Amino acid sequence: MIKQTLQDAINSQINKEFFSEYYYLSMAAYFESEDLPGFANFFKVQVEEERFHAMKFFDYLNERGGKVNLTGIDTPKTDFESPLQVFELAYKHEQYVTESVNGLMDIAIKENDHALKSFLQWFIDEQVEEEATMSKYVNQLKRLNGNGHGIMMLDRELAQRSFVPPVK
Ligand code: MG
Repeated sequence: MIKQTLQDAINSQINKEFFSEYYYLSMAAYFESEDLPGFANFFKVQVEEERFHAMKFFDYLNERGGKVNLTGIDTPKTDFESPLQVFELAYKHEQYVTESVNGLMDIAIKENDHALKSFLQWFIDEQVEEEATMSKYVNQLKRLNGNGHGIMMLDRELAQRSFVPPVK
């Protein structure tokens, strides 16, 4: 059985992962409306990753004898100015999620829950990757400085991304 404080913290994280899913879906909608299908694809794949994260916490909490309590998901931002702005916001959001996962780990350490610490390590590592991916495209888009040809090239590259469920 998992402690109540940890159950509450995991439930809060589940909500954040579902919000991430919704936020990135809103970004995908923006790119669809801008006729940038590759960028839209990138964020649709990100949506699947966030669903995977949410369900990983969902399954884990159940496995530990806890109870998942779903709560309302905030309305995401829907108006964006440019591909660069979207990636800057996505990068900022991943930094926020990293802080949240670190906070969860702090609680797990404080509560001496070794099983949870082990489980969370996957997310700690995953966040390094998530931040690196977003940061990479922020830098590439800054370099392109709105260049139309460059944006189209990047759109073609981002069209290649596909969701591969991580090995558990
Ligand atoms: Mg996530």
